[in-house]
Amino acid sequence: MDSDIATNLALVKARIRNAAVRVGRRPDEVKLIAVSKTHPANTLREAMNAGIDCFGENKVQEAEGKIADIGRHTAEWHLIGHLQSNKARKAVQLFDMIHSLDSVELAQRLERICIDEGRAELPVLVQVDLAGEVTKSGIDEADLSELIEFLKGCERLRFKGLMIVPPFFDDHEATRPYLVRLRELRDRMAKNGDLDGKGELSMGMSHDFEIAIEEGATMVRVGTAVFGAREYPQ
Ligand SMILES: *Cc1c(COP(=O)(O)O)cnc(C)c1O
Repeated sequence: MDSDIATNLALVKARIRNAAVRVGRRPDEVKLIAVSKTHPANTLREAMNAGIDCFGENKVQEAEGKIADIGRHTAEWHLIGHLQSNKARKAVQLFDMIHSLDSVELAQRLERICIDEGRAELPVLVQVDLAGEVTKSGIDEADLSELIEFLKGCERLRFKGLMIVPPFFDDHEATRPYLVRLRELRDRMAKNGDLDGKGELSMGMSHDFEIAIEEGATMVRVGTAVFGAREYPQ
């Protein structure tokens, strides 16, 4: 197991580097988030020994135990799955960044909890549903501007950029238009001064992270290619 993760990781890093160089980007512009959902804390430790310092989890409850085990500040923790409002307080306590902000209501709640908990800053990404998939989380493009206006007035939430989980296609190239569209939205927001910082793009999973890097991803969320297939796919 041990060497598997180290081997996988070396391969993923080489692929990240190649994809970046191919389009004239610096490899260090792309942050690798190792998606550790379904894997136990010991597997995360192996990954840390292999050089991983940043994990993505999609469920607050599942992450809580692992974060307690490994240490809140021993690694960076990113919430990449849908956040239910009743888990918002835990999320504020546990995560360095939330990728799945998708409504004004959730933003209001997170802002209020940050004040309550004395958390000075919470970096957030807005998850956008560009495919209009009713089953998926993410805000519709039409509702984005209201959320952005709200974020502008926030004292604690830091609007860092956008995130997407595009529909899955057997032909991975078919996701490219969604990634391009997300970048265009990010560029427009950057131009309007909506964003705190240069503007992150969280896009790209095991099957399409190279395409995502070609299209400007600054964060790729890679699970299977690092850890192997999940026993219970999520
Ligand atoms: C599971 C998950 C990933 C990683 O998926 P892999 O195909 O295993 O790389 C990335 N992003 C989100 C939101 C996920 O839920």
